[in-house]
Amino acid sequence: MVIVIAPMSMFLPVFAYAIFRRTAMTGRQRLERQIPASCVICGETLPKATLLETGKVQGPHCETVHPDFWRWASIPRKRMMLAVLFTVLIIWVVAVYELIISNYLLFIAGGALSASLALAWNLFEKRKLKSFRSHWRMTLKS
Ligand SMILES: [Zn+2]
Repeated sequence: MVIVIAPMSMFLPVFAYAIFRRTAMTGRQRLERQIPASCVICGETLPKATLLETGKVQGPHCETVHPDFWRWASIPRKRMMLAVLFTVLIIWVVAVYELIISNYLLFIAGGALSASLALAWNLFEKRKLKSFRSHWRMTLKS
């Protein structure tokens, strides 16, 4: 039994971490791909920069033109990410406990819940970005 628990309890957090890394990476890469060419919110052409300099180049524009987006993209987002990671950690602990008491179905459910949480986060980010864009369009019309 221990032979099964040890690799499985290692696998789940690594799996969850990999999903989160991927979600964070794709989000960042999406931003990095778009920022050098134009702004993610208003589509305004921004000066070209290397990936490391995008923060410097894109930062002032976002800070002045889209303060709402800027605030969301910096501190509260990191806090939310921590909250989600904490939730996944709890799910993982419960899942391992369920594995120890040999409840495979609940263990799989725990893993699936972690995965769907990561997907939900990805979806939430996309929706948030969309709402910022539509809000920007609204303010342009008025
Ligand atoms: Zn903009």
